[in-house]
Amino acid sequence: MKFSKEIESLVPYKTGKPISETKREYGLSQVYKLASNENPIGVSPKVIDAIQAALSSLHRYPDPTCYELTQKISKILQVKPETLVFGNGSNECIDLLIRLFCEPGDKIITSQAAFIAYKICAQAARVETTEVEMNEDFKIDLNGLVQKLSSKHKLIFLPNPNNPTGTYVNQAELDLFFEQVGDREDLYVVIDEAYNEFVRATDYQDGLHYFKKYKNVILSRTFSKVFGIAGLRLGYMVLPEEIANLMHRIRNPFNVNSLSQAAGLAILDDKEYLKKSQEVIWQGLDYFYEKFDRMGLKYYPSQANFLLVDLARDAKQVSDELLKRGVIVRPVANYGLMQHLRISLGLPEENEIAMKHLQEVL
Ligand SMILES: *Cc1c(COP(=O)(O)O)cnc(C)c1O
Repeated sequence: MKFSKEIESLVPYKTGKPISETKREYGLSQVYKLASNENPIGVSPKVIDAIQAALSSLHRYPDPTCYELTQKISKILQVKPETLVFGNGSNECIDLLIRLFCEPGDKIITSQAAFIAYKICAQAARVETTEVEMNEDFKIDLNGLVQKLSSKHKLIFLPNPNNPTGTYVNQAELDLFFEQVGDREDLYVVIDEAYNEFVRATDYQDGLHYFKKYKNVILSRTFSKVFGIAGLRLGYMVLPEEIANLMHRIRNPFNVNSLSQAAGLAILDDKEYLKKSQEVIWQGLDYFYEKFDRMGLKYYPSQANFLLVDLARDAKQVSDELLKRGVIVRPVANYGLMQHLRISLGLPEENEIAMKHLQEVL
């Protein structure tokens, strides 16, 4: 059997090293994982209660329409319920969207060092990804992106803030960008806001503003980060109604399981959890900024729950040394950044332990 060259050459998504595997490999009893942008404060008790209550209905198929979640998010965002599509993580929505928009031979376009899932999903659909160079502060270069557009490009992927850089594009930049590509009928813009709730920058404008203003905007959000249910896989997109309709046709009927739906509903009500999640991350960022400043290390001010730091030396080696000491962080060589580490923020004590080991290793 012969498979297409895109499939044969596909490099799968590199996930953070699991805690259990690290313990086994290095014979450690205590391991700190600051590698997958997970919420460090743990699961909300409201989520645990909701899941417990939902357990007795596990013999039933889940609600195929995610009715309650749809109603709730529609009220929160002030968008029509018909514009919402939920997925098994926002990753599934990304996958579906590329399948929907692109024929083999078509292209998507994004930034260099943008979230790598776009490229992987595209390649699996025999779709090529154009990557536009970032500017020197590791920000997405929207002008450069517009210049590279061709008639082959069907989707622009714009993670804002971006993973793994933590950088963002501001309102003025986005306004200008949409003056050029807004309302085009042959090209849609996906604004991926996985880290939306962690943004502190005052000149940030969220994608909802552009969704309401232009016809070719798609928003992607997730419950994996600030809402702390990465393990349940729940994400969604806000799309123009006719596109949402097509997404519903191609998705699997029961793509979001019943526990995820129950948990998603519960966490949206837990304002305290949201506030605490934000505070822990912001405190962690400020802690690392101060330490890195003192160590003379260059970092990229982050609007997300992780931080990219330039070690000015081979980052894989440093990361391997940290692993032996029970600290999992993320080298980002798969993004072409050989000297950088991405550190997900943990609890204050986890940050301090990671910092202590990092200082020793360096
Ligand atoms: C983590 C992340 C997601 C979320 O993926 P899920 O499949 O919803 O867990 C989406 N986009 C970006 C940029 C991310 O970093």
